[in-house]
Amino acid sequence: MRQIIIGNWKMNGSNALVAEIAPAVLAEAAQLAADLVLCPPATLIAPLAVALAGQVKVGGQDCHAQEAGAHTGDIAAGMLREAGASYVILGHSERRADHGETDAEVRAKIEAARAAGLTPIVCVGEDEAARAEGAAETVVLGQLARSLPEDFVAPPGGLVAYEPVWAIGSGRTPTAGDIAAMHGAIRAALRARFGAGGARVAILYGGSVKPANAARVLALPEVGGALVGGASLIAGDFLAIARAATLGSAAGTG
Ligand code: PEP
Repeated sequence: MRQIIIGNWKMNGSNALVAEIAPAVLAEAAQLAADLVLCPPATLIAPLAVALAGQVKVGGQDCHAQEAGAHTGDIAAGMLREAGASYVILGHSERRADHGETDAEVRAKIEAARAAGLTPIVCVGEDEAARAEGAAETVVLGQLARSLPEDFVAPPGGLVAYEPVWAIGSGRTPTAGDIAAMHGAIRAALRARFGAGGARVAILYGGSVKPANAARVLALPEVGGALVGGASLIAGDFLAIARAATLGSAAGTG
């Protein structure tokens, strides 16, 4: 399966960044064995989608669970779609922390995204205390069980991103063994719940993926790609990670 490298710009970026990154990504995208997706802030979805001309997909970073209504400041999945997005990140730990998002809310957002034809990228991950207590797997599998709707593997499908909260933006990553063990546990849970469809869901790793560690992470079993924060704001770094994914997919992972 082709690996997928997704950039999460978070609340960063500008028209100038779109003008800088889009041509650099387009110049290489066709030669890469990995698929690329860029998720800018909502205001940049349309210009980035235009600049990438459908050759590289664009995603949002959140959506509301409802189609429309009195929800000042929120964005509906259909609006993201109309702006040019085909993916949306949901349940990111920064949304869970900053906005108190629960697994039930994440599930409702996944359902709304799928109904609008967007592919959700569902983030799960333990905090440092849970990892220290040996509860990481229980936390992650619990989030997964509560967040994913019953039809998750039906078109337009969905992706899972394992992002340990303590690894995001910290420069720290789990050991190779810990990443492989968690991805294996997530795969087993997806298979048990969704059967053959669960075997095909891409499970991405996220948390301080950089050019220096990308090849090591992407070569691990059941790692189907990466969700990249900080390094996705630098075209050279994002593309270096994508080149490492090419090697990973050639090794048959994902
Ligand atoms: C993220 O926020 O999804 C992320 C993985 O960030 P970073 O790569 O900066 O750790």
